[in-house]
Amino acid sequence: MQEAQDILLKYWKHESFRPLQKEIIDSVLEGHDTFALLPTGGGKSICFQVPTMMREGICLVISPLIALMKDQVANLQKREIKAIALTGGIHTEEIIDLLDNCQFGNYKFLYLSPERLQSDWILERIKNLPISFIAIDEAHCVSQWGHDFRPAYLKISELKKHFPKIPFLALTATATPRVVEDIKTELGLKDTKLFQQSFERKNIAYMVFEVEDKLYRVEQILKKNPQPSIIYVRNRKSCLNISTQLQSLGFRATYYHGGLSTKEKDKNMQLWMSEQAQVIVATNAFGMGIDKDNVKTVIHTQLPENLENYYQESGRAGRNGEKAFSVLLYNNSDANQTEQQFLSILPDKKFLKTMYVKLCNYFQIAYGEGLDDTFSFKLNHFCNKYDFPTLKTYNALQFLNQQGIITMSQEFSEKVTMQFLIESKEVIRYTSLNQKDEEIILAILRTYPGVHEMKTPINLSLIAKKSNHTEEQVTSLLEKLREKEIIEYKSKNNDATILFNEVREDDLTINRVSKYLEKQNQLKQEQLSSVLYYIKESKTCKNRLVLDYFGEETNSNCGVCSYCITQKGKITEADSIADKILSLLKTASLTSREIQNQIKLDASDIILVLQELLENNHIVILANNKYTLKS
Ligand SMILES: [Zn+2]
Repeated sequence: MQEAQDILLKYWKHESFRPLQKEIIDSVLEGHDTFALLPTGGGKSICFQVPTMMREGICLVISPLIALMKDQVANLQKREIKAIALTGGIHTEEIIDLLDNCQFGNYKFLYLSPERLQSDWILERIKNLPISFIAIDEAHCVSQWGHDFRPAYLKISELKKHFPKIPFLALTATATPRVVEDIKTELGLKDTKLFQQSFERKNIAYMVFEVEDKLYRVEQILKKNPQPSIIYVRNRKSCLNISTQLQSLGFRATYYHGGLSTKEKDKNMQLWMSEQAQVIVATNAFGMGIDKDNVKTVIHTQLPENLENYYQESGRAGRNGEKAFSVLLYNNSDANQTEQQFLSILPDKKFLKTMYVKLCNYFQIAYGEGLDDTFSFKLNHFCNKYDFPTLKTYNALQFLNQQGIITMSQEFSEKVTMQFLIESKEVIRYTSLNQKDEEIILAILRTYPGVHEMKTPINLSLIAKKSNHTEEQVTSLLEKLREKEIIEYKSKNNDATILFNEVREDDLTINRVSKYLEKQNQLKQEQLSSVLYYIKESKTCKNRLVLDYFGEETNSNCGVCSYCITQKGKITEADSIADKILSLLKTASLTSREIQNQIKLDASDIILVLQELLENNHIVILANNKYTLKS
């Protein structure tokens, strides 16, 4: 058997493990249920990938983030390790194929979204696989007290029942102590070994400033720190706005949010990665898979939703260990209005029911139907049609998504339809003359036999897969064929795609999940209070407040946050007042009023310093209330 170290070098080309990785790997290999609480960028995936390569069998990885799964699978494939991902939006026959591949094709990793475990037949098939380890990424999703609860995660404990001897590895970057305990219980972990890295990021200074003109402050910060920066905002509109404003101030800025096409995302991300743009203005869609270690400042110009997100986003600064800043700018109206606005957009049960029924009507889904139906979706259009408030509706949809009732991918998607304009024998003639286009065209003809007769919706990623090409290659061929008037081809852009994971059952559907809605709303309010407390508490080190939130005790202040630097200012000020007083008292004994007249500072400041000087026996007070140097 190869050692963990050799595997790491062979596949990942790393010489050594990062902190705790080796300990976690050993624990898993020894067969323990293991809990790894590692910060973002701490190399969580290595903890299950390395042991899997050391043993026979497949590692089952459960992850809620489709983009992240795809990323990891691509990464493993690049290292010539066989891995696949079963995400939403894959049809039954395909899943059967993929799972068969898994069983007989020497695969090492099977990534699965938790919603997939909801289908009993998939669960049954998984039970037949030679599973070596089970890794649960983003394990906080199993906890109702986590910041991203997904009920589908509760199903994971069934795997535990079926694979009692297989070690489970729960991984997360952020969890409060209450969440850690909850995760262990909900997953059914036994005698768990917990490995936890401190949440402290010594090189990051947390700065919270109340400012009226945020843009002006951003400008100052970026001028002072001309290195790579990320500005986090709450919505897509602000992304574009702030990026444009910064450009007009002469900064090289770009932006990133979930509504951009993959191409635009890649382009903008690349601009920033290559440092052609100093700043990227982004929503929290930006984050996964970012591997840039020299980010100097992360700025929040709007209040983060919760401290978990804030901590993770802040943590993208200073990965190289150099001094970095996480700056949060707010003004009074933010703090006051946010709460009001925030509460008004939390959907209640009644709204959720109405919205769900209208959603089904909107897509013409009849009662008892709709399972596995996919639709492209434009939020604004839907809201206008039924006169729903946008944000509240969005939250309600997010809730249904989280509950697994629908899968809403906010990825910008393209709905593509096409039809051949030439006779089928002409198509065959074309392919024989253009061999390199043959595979894609054949894949289309085989998948969509009606494509000669009528406009047919086609699935680009499926065709890409069947023909062994990339989606971009398929698209560019279709464009070429359109130019040559061989096909008619239309692509339509959408905000999002909605997949229905259950049949429509109106009240039945919503009643089942409404208890979670109340808890969610309560949790969201608690989280907002924590954020408000974090910005408003003015007598505590910010780093301490962050660590406190995650249940970590500290004895000392960080010395670099916005609170600590004002304290330093006070100390030096006090020192200089003390010096002035002492030199005055060298010439004569004086009352506090006489001292104040000469130094011209606030009476209370002077009295504080006098008290300190008395306590430290530098001065004494005489019977006539005059201070004098201690002889
Ligand atoms: Zn501090």
